[in-house]
Amino acid sequence: MLTAKTLTELTTLLDSGEASSAQITKEFLDRAASLNPRLNAYITLNGEGALKEAAASDARRKKGALLSRHDGLPLAIKDNICTGGLRTTCGSGILRDFVPPYDATSYEKLKAAGFITLGKTNMDEFAMGSTTETSFFGPAKNPFDTTRVPGGSSGGSAVAVAAAMAPAALGSDTGGSIRQPAAFCGVVGIKPTYGRVSRYGLVAFASSLDQIGSFARSVDDAALVLGVIAGGDRRDATSIDRPVDFRPSELTGDVEGMRIGVPEEYFQGVADEVKDAVLEKLKQLEAAGARTEPISLRRTEYAIPVYYLIATAEASSNLARYDGIRYGYRAPDVKALEDLYRKTRNEGFGKEVKRRIILGTFSLSSGYYDAYYLKALKGRTLIIRDFQEAFAKVDAIVTPVTTTTAFRIGEKISNPLEMYVSDILTISANLAGIPGISVPAGTDRAGLPIGLQIMGNHFQERKILDCAKAVERVSGPLTPAV
Ligand code: GLN
Repeated sequence: MLTAKTLTELTTLLDSGEASSAQITKEFLDRAASLNPRLNAYITLNGEGALKEAAASDARRKKGALLSRHDGLPLAIKDNICTGGLRTTCGSGILRDFVPPYDATSYEKLKAAGFITLGKTNMDEFAMGSTTETSFFGPAKNPFDTTRVPGGSSGGSAVAVAAAMAPAALGSDTGGSIRQPAAFCGVVGIKPTYGRVSRYGLVAFASSLDQIGSFARSVDDAALVLGVIAGGDRRDATSIDRPVDFRPSELTGDVEGMRIGVPEEYFQGVADEVKDAVLEKLKQLEAAGARTEPISLRRTEYAIPVYYLIATAEASSNLARYDGIRYGYRAPDVKALEDLYRKTRNEGFGKEVKRRIILGTFSLSSGYYDAYYLKALKGRTLIIRDFQEAFAKVDAIVTPVTTTTAFRIGEKISNPLEMYVSDILTISANLAGIPGISVPAGTDRAGLPIGLQIMGNHFQERKILDCAKAVERVSGPLTPAV
């Protein structure tokens, strides 16, 4: 079964001529089409387009004119990354029919390397959520138990990879949206350093926190995709060109002498089974030569309020552009301009997005700005300092990704605060701009995946990938969930 293979294995098959890109692509498309009614991982399948791209790749291979070593490999793309000519909804009613006229830089780079796009994956509306339940297109389902959430906001990407409906996928992570669904679905997910990947063409949620990253069923594959999309871009002034030193061939999985910090704050309020699984892996890392030491990230308790002030403030500003004129949905039967704005936004946005626009507008308004937004920025600085102090002593920080394993669909959606609080272990990395990876660390008694998070200092992706590889080595390879 080609769909059970990793990108690395598929590359070998392509190179030896045992499989063509057309065959591989067709198997993934068929499997995706047959599982999607049950799992809702994809909003749009790019059936015809992908087969055309695969045929073109096979033709290049025959001529010996490959675009890169990865030419002909398929993957899926989160639906907030603009794919020119292919519908990009952001999980929102307001963009339900939006076909972008241009490509995001990350997508452009994948195409230039010969990657095939299988489709666009389901997500929380504008990436606001932790479950995909806020998607205009309905929730994606966890392939380990379809009554449970797959996590979010990049839930569709995690499901697609876990269920072998794609060998890898792009996601975005503003407060945990790659790492948390990766943990809930038992796959690898990495959020790189802020600035490592261009945000050009990523529909903006909270611009100072958003980063694009990758999902895969192995650490090597996640690193491979990240290596292709990384790099500075003149169209994103916050991106930076740093050499990619984490290609799969450069990763050793060697943790000999690596100093690993274990912050006590990240183990409080965590379910026993999750805590125990992570502690067990830490022992195995020690056995492999790492040195662990307790550390403190003492401002962790401020992370939730700081994040939900900054993210909503930025979102309220970013989402002002959906006015019914420039993009997407426009309400019919309107009387005047203001009526057009009001109706379009009222009908086009879902409840969670409206809640965040209101919260963000409030904290930025005059008289409240100092008390809320400015205070949150100061809190962010304190959280950054915590990490700076920690990374003066350790190479990497290991924690759980989530406080529990995947919860039930419907369990938290009517209580936004409970939902927000569940992000406590992932959002600090975004506030500090540091890279983080989620790697599978076993399952709980119900058979639900548990994730282990590794955070590193800015641009230290190589270290956290090596550490993740050491964890993967003791856990063994992942098999598709269904
Ligand atoms: N769950 C968080 C939120 O709703 C993070 C989402 C994300 O990373 N895009 O804001």
